[in-house]
Amino acid sequence: YFTEIQELPPDPLFGLKARYSKDTRTDKVDLGIGAYRDNNGKPWVLPAVQQAEAKLAKTPGYNHEYLGIAGYEPFVSSAAKIILNGDNKDVLERTVSVQTLSGTGSLHLAGLFLKKFYKGSNALYLSLPTWANHNQVFASIGFDVKSYPYWDNDTKSLDLNGFLNAIALAPPKSVFLLHACAHNPTGLDPTKEEWSKILEAMSKYDHLPLFDSAYQGFASGSLENDRFAIEAATSASSPIKSSPIIICQSFAKNCGMYGERVGALHIVLPKDLVDLKPAIKSQLNKIIRCEISNPPAYGAKVVALILEDKALYKQWTEDLQVMANRIKSMRVKLRDLLTNKYKTPGNWDHIVDQTGMFSFTGLNKDMVERLERNHGVYLVSSGRASVAGLNDSNVERVAQAIDEVVRF
Ligand code: PMP
Repeated sequence: YFTEIQELPPDPLFGLKARYSKDTRTDKVDLGIGAYRDNNGKPWVLPAVQQAEAKLAKTPGYNHEYLGIAGYEPFVSSAAKIILNGDNKDVLERTVSVQTLSGTGSLHLAGLFLKKFYKGSNALYLSLPTWANHNQVFASIGFDVKSYPYWDNDTKSLDLNGFLNAIALAPPKSVFLLHACAHNPTGLDPTKEEWSKILEAMSKYDHLPLFDSAYQGFASGSLENDRFAIEAATSASSPIKSSPIIICQSFAKNCGMYGERVGALHIVLPKDLVDLKPAIKSQLNKIIRCEISNPPAYGAKVVALILEDKALYKQWTEDLQVMANRIKSMRVKLRDLLTNKYKTPGNWDHIVDQTGMFSFTGLNKDMVERLERNHGVYLVSSGRASVAGLNDSNVERVAQAIDEVVRF
């Protein structure tokens, strides 16, 4: 039995976390995993979350009973409103939503659902590069995973022509995974004009958009700005008229609820398919029942309170700005140190131009290895740095270390 099982190398990101934990250097810096840290380098429980938790514990009849298969209804409907624009009743009426195990569970459920019911192509396109887990989530379900050009390394900008070309050449009705905002790992998002060209092309070649929204509110500090692409794709004026649109939504980052696994899957249907909503919901429920029986309740109840209660919601929007602004200020500090103080060879403006949790620094594998070995500064081998790991106490040291590995 089992004799052919081979041990796999550690997951690159969680392997990095393990090496970091073992490192005994007191001035080590973790720029690996995409989790927000405050200016003391500590995880941050958002004030909105603290207040919601306190309120939840005092709610009469509070308990830990099972949720229904599709999740906690107040959470699911509020989550749909926040990602789709709650004022747009037409879109909400065309949408089927269920609760999922955070963003990853949503992607997986979307994959299982499409695999079973989508009559289009089996090809699923990911941006090059993309979040490392995308590949294995969809390959493990049996998709033919391909990639579309996204990041132009020479210009450190979007390869829009390559992207549009890939859309034109893909088999019709392919699935395209699109990062809704704060692209991971490059921190580079299409502009509004570029999004409109991308969506036009998606419509022309009849592909299915699968939005991954893991950073709403994190990129700009505004929930409305960060759902721009999703609104453009789902509103009445969208060029996409005949294909369903799928949205995988995570509250891990924007609520700092990483380990509580709070997420949702939304399937927005074109007008002529609205009657299928009950059938689609019942099939999603069947998959959920087989996979997890029903989703976790605690985090969904906390997030529902934040989304529903005016005062908590206001607190949350402020918390989002605290996180987004601290990250933006660290980008500026790092760029300024490299450019002005150390006069590090190269142009470092991209650190400021990029958005969200990450900066695609342009440091190569060898430089990243030396940063870890010689300086105790940890980032993934692609050169992606989690800017949230920088703070006033370590940014200078990180800049000095980057300068050293770039120069020598
Ligand atoms: N998509 C992207 C692009 C991500 O960066 C992440 C988290 N790193 C996820 C999805 C999933 O996150 P979670 O499952 O924790 O919600």
